[in-house]
Amino acid sequence: MAIETKKGPIGFPTWIACGFGLGFAPLAPGSISTLFLVILLGLAGPIEPVPHAIIIVVMFAVGIPICNTAEAKLGHDAGSIVWDEFVGFAVATWGLLQTYHDHNAWTIIIAAWAAFRFFDVIKLWPVNAAEKLPHAWKAGEQTKILRGQLEAMADGGTVVIVAPPNPFRCPPGPYERASQIANYLKHHKPKSKVLILDSKQKFSKQGLFVQGWEKFYGYGTEKSMIEWRPGPDAAVVKVDAGGMMAETSFGDEIKADVLNVIPPQKAGEVAFAAGLTDDSGWCPIDLKTFESTIHKGIHVIGDASIATGMPKSGYAANSEAKVCAAAVVSMLKGEAVGTPSYVNTCYSIVGKDYGISVAAVYRLAEDGSKIVQVSGGLTPSDASADHLKREVAYAQSWFKNITKDVFG
Ligand SMILES: Cc1cc2nc3c(=O)[nH]c(=O)nc-3n(C[C@H](O)[C@H](O)[C@H](O)COP(=O)(O)OP(=O)(O)OC[C@H]3O[C@@H](n4cnc5c(N)ncnc54)[C@H](O)[C@@H]3O)c2cc1C
Repeated sequence: MAIETKKGPIGFPTWIACGFGLGFAPLAPGSISTLFLVILLGLAGPIEPVPHAIIIVVMFAVGIPICNTAEAKLGHDAGSIVWDEFVGFAVATWGLLQTYHDHNAWTIIIAAWAAFRFFDVIKLWPVNAAEKLPHAWKAGEQTKILRGQLEAMADGGTVVIVAPPNPFRCPPGPYERASQIANYLKHHKPKSKVLILDSKQKFSKQGLFVQGWEKFYGYGTEKSMIEWRPGPDAAVVKVDAGGMMAETSFGDEIKADVLNVIPPQKAGEVAFAAGLTDDSGWCPIDLKTFESTIHKGIHVIGDASIATGMPKSGYAANSEAKVCAAAVVSMLKGEAVGTPSYVNTCYSIVGKDYGISVAAVYRLAEDGSKIVQVSGGLTPSDASADHLKREVAYAQSWFKNITKDVFG
């Protein structure tokens, strides 16, 4: 069944996701469509908490497929898709509608609607900052917000990426992101650019990234789509979410159309709560066993650990997990722990058919104080076009293999 709307014909599921068409209201579609719920609930009378909870669960379950269908038709997070507002309002009024007839039904429900819309529209700190300046360093809602901002940005805009200081998860990550965004802009908004503000003076696979940027994005020329400003002058000391401004330690105030601030990092809250972190905000460990040096009997692997000499990457975490598991088995058996070796590989895609990588094998230093690279290499700087294309295929197969290895 096709329903005619201002956006053309849409199917029945999309129509429902758009609040039975109310989401196409020219002004304040979220407020107008939830007003419809106010009237419905006001007329419906009291609802006990249990049936109300069942209604919420059903609305939520129905919402997933219909909103996916609607997004495929109308675009990511389109303003006309208001089913999420319906579910949100149903959640916000849970428990309120049980006895409200004794307390002037319409006053309560309209007050709930006004408060719900007020907080949704003005968005208090830190919600407003997280939505305006997504770090997008954890996949999910944040990456979707960043994507939506890039799609909404006018051609000619500036995307500012604030790269974090060391150590941080995925050392080539900000520069891969710059490449991916530049690739998108090149094809969809060619007058735009990406500006990376860095507190560091060098970064992972820098020479290879720069070569790729020169080839695809005019790096180093007047018209370059990527600009990298190194530290210490470009270190960002202040951001203003309202004004979309980043201020550097040099005093430059840089206006952005999209501002992606990847903040300084530390171990997760659970590591702090367990008392496993030191003053650096990360967890000190014995590099042979990954046992915490603060709390014996607890082993910490991956990003949270201070695995001196290894990068914070998924592949490194996987390798550390294997070293740690073998050590724990030996310890439980009362045997000596063998001298481990560790590996890491990291692929980055810079442009179409253009991949680069670094691979390394590590051993524990004689005195156990750090992990040292003993072998490995980078994509050669004079790699052929075929080689660079193969690196993209390797990157994809690497992803499949590591996913299978970790999750089975
Ligand atoms: C943009 C980006 C790109 C990346 N690309 C690559 C790449 O190409 N290759 C690569 O090797 N690495 C890559 N990485 C790095 C990689 O994602 C991390 O190094 C890796 O996920 C670290 O694994 P981890 O298990 O230490 O931490 P995490 O993956 O963060 O896992 C920690 C888990 O603990 C959970 N948790 C936290 N608190 C609690 C609690 N109290 N109770 C229960 N669970 C809890 C969290 O939800 C999380 O699922 C990338 C990272 C980013 C941000």
